[in-house]
Amino acid sequence: MDVLRNGSLGSVPFMLSSLAAVLTKAALPPALQESIGSWTHIAGQPMTQAPAPMAFVPGLFHGVGAYYPQGGMRAVPELLEAEALAAGVDVQYTTKVRAIVAPHKQVAGVRTAAGEFLPATAVMSDASGIGTYVELVEDFPAPEKEKLQRLPLQSPGTCAYLAVRGRQPPYYIRFKLRGAGCTALVQPGLLDAGLAQEGWYPARLISPLAHAEAAALGPEGQHQLIDQQLAEGWWQEGISAYKVLHRRSTFEWGRDYHLYRDSMNPVMTSRLMRKGRLAHRSPTVRGLYLTGSSTHPGQWMSFCAIAGVLAADCLTHDYPRV
Ligand SMILES: Cc1cc2nc3c(=O)[nH]c(=O)nc-3n(C[C@H](O)[C@H](O)[C@H](O)COP(=O)(O)OP(=O)(O)OC[C@H]3O[C@@H](n4cnc5c(N)ncnc54)[C@H](O)[C@@H]3O)c2cc1C
Repeated sequence: MDVLRNGSLGSVPFMLSSLAAVLTKAALPPALQESIGSWTHIAGQPMTQAPAPMAFVPGLFHGVGAYYPQGGMRAVPELLEAEALAAGVDVQYTTKVRAIVAPHKQVAGVRTAAGEFLPATAVMSDASGIGTYVELVEDFPAPEKEKLQRLPLQSPGTCAYLAVRGRQPPYYIRFKLRGAGCTALVQPGLLDAGLAQEGWYPARLISPLAHAEAAALGPEGQHQLIDQQLAEGWWQEGISAYKVLHRRSTFEWGRDYHLYRDSMNPVMTSRLMRKGRLAHRSPTVRGLYLTGSSTHPGQWMSFCAIAGVLAADCLTHDYPRV
């Protein structure tokens, strides 16, 4: 009804299309289609499955612009932590939640991996939305679990952390496309020369992988893939020497960041976009709220920050301060 009311009926065919369909219809040269689709390649996702609005992403980057926080991405959580502490929030680090206790579909608290029960009127989960329901909420109904388990997952892919001598201007991020996926060279040193240490700049070689492919390769196969990509010449133009500081496969991402089945979030398919991501206010468990990349508006730091605000709005609406 909303589309009729606000006069946007004409946009419905576009919204129901895939990225591949709108790019084909636009009859742009194939190379341009591929470059517009690079933000789908970074998700390791075929353009036939990506939603049409992904076509706007390059427009955002080249129009509104992309921003690099001073101090790097870590500056965002550091600032949020400082604000939370200043507001009197009690933060417990390295405390893994094993279960969300919710008898009769009403949150009662959480149980930590150490076995401690922490009572709570409400729980806001930033863990994977699917993982929260499937692995954490006790006695969550099996049919609902099965529906969530069918959502396709997005893998974090592999990452090689590098120290490099030299830089490759003008690319902060340079893509090499490979089928549905790609490899991206990221050079923060181009934006912030102060990051150099004794002439070595930080850089990363990031390769998204389809979730099933990542699992099939296994840890050994993924490390071999990283080595093959490191041996390629395209990313070494302008770089006279490099040191590999660390290699991270999807299994290490999963272990280090407690990821649900070594995934970051559900893949943003056109189907999921139409259906909507996971709700911030749980429709099944009272007092449970979800935030982070499984919820609207989705992945990336800026979107996750918006998700945090939206989820907090739900919580403060339901539990106003007295
Ligand atoms: C290689 C790579 C490069 C990226 N580069 C960028 C970039 O340049 N810019 C950008 O904007 N985005 C980037 N992203 C995407 C961005 O990192 C994610 O979209 C974002 O971090 C998702 O945030 P989140 O809060 O949903 O999840 P997470 O960042 O995964 O946070 C979830 C937190 O919950 C914790 N947790 C999980 N389970 C439990 C549990 N049971 N108990 C207690 N704690 C738990 C985890 O340890 C973790 O700290 C990149 C992602 C990858 C993989």
